[in-house]
Amino acid sequence: MKISKKIELNYNISFGKMSKWLTGLTEGFALALKCSLCEKVSFPPQKICTCGSYKNSWIKLSGVAEIVTITSGLDGNYGLVKFEGASTLTVVKLNNFKGTETFGKILKSSSQNPSIIITPTEVK
Ligand SMILES: [Zn+2]
Repeated sequence: MKISKKIELNYNISFGKMSKWLTGLTEGFALALKCSLCEKVSFPPQKICTCGSYKNSWIKLSGVAEIVTITSGLDGNYGLVKFEGASTLTVVKLNNFKGTETFGKILKSSSQNPSIIITPTEVK
């Protein structure tokens, strides 16, 4: 015997410290964490620095990134980029990539699906 019933659940999940970063992505700016000990700037933010420190502070980056390399898939183009002021590389979705651009600027993303998207440009 099998009984079929519809069950609905509403979730409100907090992202804790990363909420600030995700909100930034939905508003079109890049927030990074700067380590208080070694000054490494991580984007995406790393709560614990590679030096082992937990002490850090938020900084706002320009939102401009250099495209280091790209890959193309069925659902679009993606890049490995280095945001100005960041010590780390990050993977982003490239919006309307034509194939020759070497820089990009961060875009607003959906609040239902925060993500790192840049619009490629020929110059910084
Ligand atoms: Zn550090």
